[in-house]
Amino acid sequence: MKTIEQKGMYQKFPRSGKDTRVTHYCAGCGHGIVNKLVAECCAEMGLQDQTIFVDPVGCGVFTYYYWDAAHISAAHGRASAAATGVSRARPDAVTIAYQGDGDLGAIGFNNAFQAASRGEKFGCIFINNSLYGMTGGQMAPTTLEGEKTTTTPFGRDPALTGHPLHVCEVFNQLQAPVYIARVSVADTKRIMQCKQAIKRLFEIQRDHKGYALLEILAPCPTNFRMDPLKAAEFCKNEMEAEFPLGTFRDVDKGVTPEAIGAQHQASAALEVKSVPQVASCAELFGVSDGVDAPPAEDDPSVPERRFKFAGYGGQGILSLGICVAEAARLEKRHTLWFPSYGPEQRGGSASCSVVVSGTPIGSPTVEHPDVLVCMNQPSYERFVGDVKKGGIVIVDASVPITKQPPEGVKLYQVPAIQMAEDFGVPKAANTMMLAALRAFKATGLDDAHLETALCASFKKKPQLVEKNRDLLHRAEAALLNN
Ligand code: SF4
Repeated sequence: MKTIEQKGMYQKFPRSGKDTRVTHYCAGCGHGIVNKLVAECCAEMGLQDQTIFVDPVGCGVFTYYYWDAAHISAAHGRASAAATGVSRARPDAVTIAYQGDGDLGAIGFNNAFQAASRGEKFGCIFINNSLYGMTGGQMAPTTLEGEKTTTTPFGRDPALTGHPLHVCEVFNQLQAPVYIARVSVADTKRIMQCKQAIKRLFEIQRDHKGYALLEILAPCPTNFRMDPLKAAEFCKNEMEAEFPLGTFRDVDKGVTPEAIGAQHQASAALEVKSVPQVASCAELFGVSDGVDAPPAEDDPSVPERRFKFAGYGGQGILSLGICVAEAARLEKRHTLWFPSYGPEQRGGSASCSVVVSGTPIGSPTVEHPDVLVCMNQPSYERFVGDVKKGGIVIVDASVPITKQPPEGVKLYQVPAIQMAEDFGVPKAANTMMLAALRAFKATGLDDAHLETALCASFKKKPQLVEKNRDLLHRAEAALLNN
């Protein structure tokens, strides 16, 4: 295949040992656009040999695979602190910290703020996508009022969790910064403006003028739960209404807070108000379509049972966990479903935890499952050692058993992926695993409730309900006959 030339980027991104030019970003992610712009600016200005990037923790963590320049990686939230050290040790270099809104706006805010206050000589590129992207879409300081995230399922309520943090406006109160601006990558015009702003940031660092902050509004389609076009619209319509674009300060060009006047100081006038609530968490996540479950009832005789479901994204692992949680709800059990993603979320590994109990549940995390269902080798190797004595492991038969489960744990190898292919529905491997859970009596839940929950999960695709019901029965029969 012909190699695509791209300025400032490596010709290959050998992440995970693969020779590829595919980044880890999701389709439509703002990081991908910004990464290209940063690489282009760095190369076009002839600064690649001079630039030291300080990489963050978050979705931007892997920039060292993409930008052909020097890099160091900082601990979570510490990129501005590390950039301080780098820029002081190498005053001849162009030092650029790259941070997201969890990294800079939350855990690392004080590091970044104090570096700006001291006027450290580095540029900070701050990606604001209004939530924590890498860890699955939790609320960040920049989350909009009313925005739904996994930790604000009813929308962010300022009365409970405060108002969105306006990083540019806050930093604009400081004396030392020489450049502060906010741009966006939500459409072509904005991308061109963003490139000019990134160039300006590099220029200021090349000329060793002082601290510069560039905030970039960026869509996160995965955690907005939107397609890339809708995510870009959200960025333009909703995020820009909260975070107006503009140059707050460019001292060399005569743009100062005094000159701008009150225009960008308006954030102080935010009114505290609550936001409308959605009907329910279940409605928000679409996890209970069609299941009219009764409220949970306490029954101390029902022991707590903890499940872990793990595999690649796209294998229906999260839906499988939802089915089990829904079946538990139908039995009036207390239940929690908790998805978990690492930096490999994008087409990589995904897992979820489910807890079912007769009494209220303290924690949604599952460190030692009673039941582990694995669809791929990395998940199996990662979790199998954690399964409790007396527990069950159900693993796809394609996974090599490189590690034995702990003593007293039963292992079932189920050809779920192969069966789904043989039945002509390759996407139904998770339904095969549900059949295995029923066949091996692994959930402690009623078979009928598991079936109802499965059917309910296809409410939006009613044509698939009967098909999956049929697959469930056929797979269960096949497993019981073997
Ligand atoms: S999770 Fe969001 S921020 Fe992270 S790579 Fe995907 S789209 Fe981008």
